Amino acid sequence: MSVFNRLLVTTLPLVPKAIVGRVASRYVAGGTLDDAVTTVRSLNTQGAMATLDVLGEEVHERAKAEAAVAEYIRVFEAISAQKLDSNVSIKPTLLGLKIDEGFCRDCVEKVVATAREHGNFVRIDMEDRSTTDATLRIYKDLHARYGNVGVVLQAYMRRTLSDIEELPEQGASVRICKGIYVEPRTAAWKGYETVRANYVAALEKLIVRGVYAAIATHDEYLACRAVELVDKHRLPRDRYEFQMLHGVDDELRRILVAGGHRLRVYVPYGRDWYPYSMRRLRENPEVARHVLRAMLAGR
Ligand SMILES: Cc1cc2nc3c(=O)[nH]c(=O)nc-3n(C[C@H](O)[C@H](O)[C@H](O)COP(=O)(O)OP(=O)(O)OC[C@H]3O[C@@H](n4cnc5c(N)ncnc54)[C@H](O)[C@@H]3O)c2cc1C
Repeated sequence: MSVFNRLLVTTLPLVPKAIVGRVASRYVAGGTLDDAVTTVRSLNTQGAMATLDVLGEEVHERAKAEAAVAEYIRVFEAISAQKLDSNVSIKPTLLGLKIDEGFCRDCVEKVVATAREHGNFVRIDMEDRSTTDATLRIYKDLHARYGNVGVVLQAYMRRTLSDIEELPEQGASVRICKGIYVEPRTAAWKGYETVRANYVAALEKLIVRGVYAAIATHDEYLACRAVELVDKHRLPRDRYEFQMLHGVDDELRRILVAGGHRLRVYVPYGRDWYPYSMRRLRENPEVARHVLRAMLAGR
């Protein structure tokens, strides 16, 4: 990322919300479930699967977590009714993790139980390091009792290789990603190449242990190394998938799909788009150009 872009990233919180919204709209399917359904249907016709995410995080009121559970139940009903090829992704802090771990586990369980009724699957996103232990506990508990649930591990975390050793022996499913939260060096690898190296090591460890691997990246180098590992370990197509974010590098998505790989797109929707969009903009190497253009257009 250029110096100018890095400078803009540090001042992003000062950019008016309307401008951020305009630039970040490419990352969000829209405000409503209908918007999200339209996006998923279009992805399905292009040969990609989806995972639907209800935007929101860090709730401190039980009613908000319960409203999110109700929305996820609506999501499963829509997926079944519209025959969409999609599962869901959930954030533990939207489902009450910062209120109480037991309450959060009960909320996640309602989503997982609903998914099972619909023959579907739930992926638990991984948030910042204050949530890692509790998220893994909730995942392991629900995996043992339901099975149709997976989790995420972040390649930048120093603990990830040992977390892989603690995964359930049978039927584990892990999305491996670089990691997006700002963590201290004591907890997370910092170098760009170091994180890549740990990503490749983690992915190979997942494959060797027989874990279903969801390879989440837009980094062409990592996509290439992943294809190489899939080939080296003769992984059948139904034992792994690639994953990408809605609004990022559609060309790489089409290349991987055309190569015969299964690929799932993360499709967030809802009104609480700001924190998610800010994280995406921080990663956009052309953020400055987009923000400046939106500011000029808004005049
Ligand atoms: C499906 C999916 C789910 C994820 N779930 C989680 C999670 O649960 N927890 C978590 O901590 N992180 C999650 N992430 C985010 C992840 O950790 C990374 O922060 C993010 O994917 C960027 O890393 P990268 O591997 O794409 O490599 P990068 O080096 O960041 O990006 C590679 C290239 O992709 C393009 N690119 C990347 N991001 C953008 C962007 N926002 N806008 C425009 N171009 C871009 C650029 O060309 C860039 O050079 C998820 C990512 C994906 C794809």
